[in-house]
Amino acid sequence: MRGLMMDDPLLISGMIEYAAQNHGYQEIVSRSVEGPIHRYTYADAYGRIKQLANALERLGVRIGDRVATVAWNGYRHFELYYGVSGIGAVCHTINPRLFPEQIVYIIDHAADRFIFVDLTFVPLIEAVQDKLPALEGVIVMTDAAHMPETSLANAYCYEDLIGAEEQDFAWPQFDENTASSLCYTSGTTGNPKGALYSHRSTVLHTMFVCATDGFGVSNGTVILPAVPMFHVNAWGLAYAATMYGAKLVLPGMGYDGQSMYELLDEEKVTMTAGVPTIWLMLLDYLKKESKDLPHLKSAGIGGAAAPLSMIEAFEDDYGVRVHHAWGMTEMSPVGTTAHLNARIAGLPKQERRAYQQKQGREVWGVKLKILDDEGNELPRDGKAFGELAVRGPWVIDSYFENEDASQTQFTDDGWFLTGDVATLDAEGHMQIVDRSKDVIKSGGEWISTIDLENAAVGYPGVAEAAVIGLPHPKWDERPLLIVVKTQDADITGEEILEFLSDKIARWWMPDDVVFADELPHTATGKIAKIPLRETYKDHKLPTA
Ligand code: ADP
Repeated sequence: MRGLMMDDPLLISGMIEYAAQNHGYQEIVSRSVEGPIHRYTYADAYGRIKQLANALERLGVRIGDRVATVAWNGYRHFELYYGVSGIGAVCHTINPRLFPEQIVYIIDHAADRFIFVDLTFVPLIEAVQDKLPALEGVIVMTDAAHMPETSLANAYCYEDLIGAEEQDFAWPQFDENTASSLCYTSGTTGNPKGALYSHRSTVLHTMFVCATDGFGVSNGTVILPAVPMFHVNAWGLAYAATMYGAKLVLPGMGYDGQSMYELLDEEKVTMTAGVPTIWLMLLDYLKKESKDLPHLKSAGIGGAAAPLSMIEAFEDDYGVRVHHAWGMTEMSPVGTTAHLNARIAGLPKQERRAYQQKQGREVWGVKLKILDDEGNELPRDGKAFGELAVRGPWVIDSYFENEDASQTQFTDDGWFLTGDVATLDAEGHMQIVDRSKDVIKSGGEWISTIDLENAAVGYPGVAEAAVIGLPHPKWDERPLLIVVKTQDADITGEEILEFLSDKIARWWMPDDVVFADELPHTATGKIAKIPLRETYKDHKLPTA
């Protein structure tokens, strides 16, 4: 028997409509690409989003068409999130940090009809436009006064385009499973792969992000997404803000410590989230300038493992609660968040910290299991580790027009294989041991490069650390620790190893330490292990 409840589709347009109707007074503050801070309200934004919807239809954009963005976190990008998806088209956010060849590949693969670009990225598209014959037009996200001289073939000015339209638009109603946005993985191996989200998956993911055991968003929260809107929809935070009518602070292109601090302080931000690299820069700035964070209550850390030293600095020095989170492009992206369960919340600090370092607890909505090499499920005992498999309403079911990847990354019974190696315990706590490609196999046992890196950055004078496995005649592979020192630090490899000696198993001890001026990073800010393995492939370990 079918239930007799309304089949009201979960649509992205409904979220912004709700925000404008009920929280029309609430502010969206952006550091604009042109320079000044821009402020307006949800009511203002909604009027412009409807103008944009009219403009898109006038350009001939129809349901299912792909419209791309190459833009920072700002109010026009926010308008595109809602305007493009609202009319049933697909908002394809492009990561400008990808290589130009990869950008050409994904624009072509996605068959983007139009691209909206921030001023910063006009040269990027000018340089590749000859390779994009199907592209019909490029809209520069600025006003007439700031329109640059450009060689773009079909260039429009954003403000002129929407300025010509009415602030009146009736949002189409359609099936909630309709595609809403598209994000490509950074493609560390092979070509980038597309994750095509739906209105339904986006709304459900947003509800989870807002939940108390997600990132905890309410009407009184002031959110600063410190993760770019071109990186998996800023982890859902630009949607979360409208669902509860929270004040939204968009940092533009300012991710350095000082720019971040200024907005956190001046806009009285209470909640933020980003990758560890951003927080390293902020913590460094705060320390140097003796600044405080009196308004900030919580910081989400994800995208790469949060080192203990970072969790301690936020909580002990600044009174900011850390929520470690894990996920990936294929999961919208948030899969787990480390909110302590009621039992652990009452434990002494040191015991609690052991759980905060884990990547989070299984939440309702994303099922987790770990598998051995034959695909058998491993016990949830917090010790056994294997490949992490997931399923749920905001996890991809296949890649966008990529048969090969869709076949290899799913189990026969439809679980998505994450490529991460993890442990899982009886209370659902999940800890990432490593990427399966990065884990070091030494004498038949596995060494976690993440654990070694996190322990090493706890030593004063270590700014960043990476561990890779090098071939070893006896043990197959042994760890090499690569360290970037903080400015003026005078430290030696022996000191670092001595520091590690009571923090890791003896046989995990790196066989050698080398110093580097900097480490290579991927387009999403993670340490890029492939070029590191290439650089150090001929390095001789003293034990080999
Ligand atoms: P990419 O495009 O680089 O894959 P994603 O953001 O999709 O970008 O990266 C997802 C991967 O990042 C995960 O599979 C995992 O390996 C890593 N990751 C994400 N969050 C964490 C975390 N909290 N701790 C450790 N690794 C993480």
